Parts: sequence; structure tokens; C-alpha cells
Amino acid sequence: MSSPTIIDGRKVSKDIKNEIAEKVEKLKAEGKRPPHLAIIIVGDDGASHTYVNGKINACKAVGFDFTLMHFASTISEEKLIKHIEQLNEDEDIDGFIVQIPLPEHISVEHITERIAPLKDVDGFTNQNFGSIMSSHQLLLPATPFGVMELIRRYEIPTEGKNCVIVGASRIAGAPLSLMMLQDGRATVTVCHKLTKDLKSHTKEADILVVAVGKPGLITKDMVKECAVVIDVGTTRVEDASRKSGFRLAGDVVYDEVAPIASYITPVPGGVGPMTIASLLLNTFKAYERNH
Ligand code: NAP
Repeated sequence: MSSPTIIDGRKVSKDIKNEIAEKVEKLKAEGKRPPHLAIIIVGDDGASHTYVNGKINACKAVGFDFTLMHFASTISEEKLIKHIEQLNEDEDIDGFIVQIPLPEHISVEHITERIAPLKDVDGFTNQNFGSIMSSHQLLLPATPFGVMELIRRYEIPTEGKNCVIVGASRIAGAPLSLMMLQDGRATVTVCHKLTKDLKSHTKEADILVVAVGKPGLITKDMVKECAVVIDVGTTRVEDASRKSGFRLAGDVVYDEVAPIASYITPVPGGVGPMTIASLLLNTFKAYERNH
């Protein structure tokens, strides 16, 4: 059995950042302002702040301007919507995101639908979601966009392939299924919690994408030989040997699945870095539209 190609999301993400940084340099040399991303974060959830710091560092790395808006977890939905409306109107802001999760008294759906679609660089609004199936795609949901970009840059064929996606959430599995259909021209199966006999589906996959959040869900016996395996799952599991006290685990049992896969993403270092790269790509796209 030959060893699989490890899909290096860190490298692809770095390549994308370099490409964007070059474009930003050019803009600045022409006397134009760089793209400007705003990030709203509510409350003090440690993991959310870590993710936001990653996004800020990425903005700095490519030369984007950024604005961080941090609100107490007691902020009302109404007040938060007011801030969103201000950002929608602000011509100096090209795109913005509201970091989730939000406190329980704030509806993610209410908030998302108040974001102007052309500034929705996470690609979460109904309009951007729906645009996946259009010939004029707008700002695509960042995580599935990142998965498609990995597949494209590794020149993995998708046309006519059996693509099985495990996980059907609004931010990962569901939009990815539409992208695989529309852009990838694959034959797509989407599995979720109520899917019966999961293995009978995953076993048929030429391309298997897993986005569930359950470490250990996908074992070797569930994967076809030479399948492409993309693991979106990212779960913090306790690990006393780490300084942080935890490590990140995917949904796929990497050590046993990798030897039979043709391509595989590690966790961390696979899909994760691509979500930030997609956010930067979307912000640049929003900037171009804004000008
Ligand atoms: P989510 O909203 O909880 O959705 C999980 C999906 O998995 C749902 O569709 C659920 O089915 C399905 N599911 C649950 N148990 C299952 C099972 N035993 N068999 C088959 N399907 C099952 O989670 P999410 O936000 O999509 O995130 C999923 C994972 O991806 C998490 O680990 C998350 O951290 C990770 N993620 C990573 C990135 C990144 O940047 N790398 C970005 C987004 C998410 P139902 O629809 O029936 O409930």
C-alpha cells in the first residue's frame, strides 16, 4: 500500500495569504486603502477569543486593516443589531463577521440575517448560501469554500465521483454538498444523525468529507481503498501532556485510515487553516465589489 498524499492546509493557506499580501501591496503602492475587516465578538469564551486572534493575525499578515468590536455577554440582541446596521452602512468597512457562539439570549439566525450579504464574509446569510447554486456566486461559506479550494489546488478530480458528506450543518456539510454538486459536478450523498447504517454510505465514497465533531467516528472499515478523506471535525479533547491541557482531534481515526486513503487531511493543519484563508479571500472579494 503506497502512502497517501497529506493535504497540507497550512501550506495552501500560506500560499493564499502570500497571494493576497501581494495584491494588497500593489493597492497600497497605487495609493489605495487596503481591505478592512471588522470582527464582532460577544462575551469572554476562551476558544472564541483564540479563533478571533487567529483572524486578526491573518489580517495583519496580509496587510488588511481590521477593527475588533468586543461586547459584554449581557448586550441585548437589539443593541447588537444596531451595531451590525452601522457596519452595514460604513463605507470604510468592506466585510465583517460576528464570531459564534453567541450568548443564549441572542439568536444567531436573527443576527446573521441582518448582515448585508455583500459584507457577509463568513458567507452565512441566506442570500450567500443560495448563491452557491447560481452562476453568479457571491460570498461563499468560508469552511466549505476552504475545502473546495484544497481539492482544487491539489487537482483532485470531483466530476462524476461519489462524494459522501457526513454532517449536514448550515455552516459546513450542507453548503459543501451544494458546492460539490454545482462546482464539483460530483454525485453527492449527505449523511446526518438520523442516517441509517452510516458505513454503507461512507464505504461507497470516492471523496469522503466528515464534519460532525465526534472524534473517532470514522474508522478504517468505513472507508473505501484509495478514497480522498477530508476531515473538517475539530474537537478539543483533554490532553494532560500538552501545556494547554488539550489537543485538537478530527472525526477520522487518522492513523488507521491514512494507510488506505489516497489523500487525507490531518487535524490540525488540514481544513482548519483554510477557513481563515477563505475569510481573507472573501474580504478581498467584498473590497473589490465595494470599489
Ligand atoms: P454541528 O452544527 O453540530 O453539526 C454536526 C452535524 O453532524 C449535524 O448535521 C449532525 O446531524 C451530524 N451528526 C451528528 N452526529 C452524527 C453521527 N453520529 N453520524 C452522522 N452525522 C452526525 O457542527 P458543525 O458546526 O457543522 O461542526 C462540525 C465539526 O466541524 C466540529 O468539530 C467543528 O468544530 C468543525 N468545524 C471546523 C471548522 C474549521 O475551520 N476547521 C469550521 C466549522 C466546523 P443532524 O443535522 O441530524 O443534527
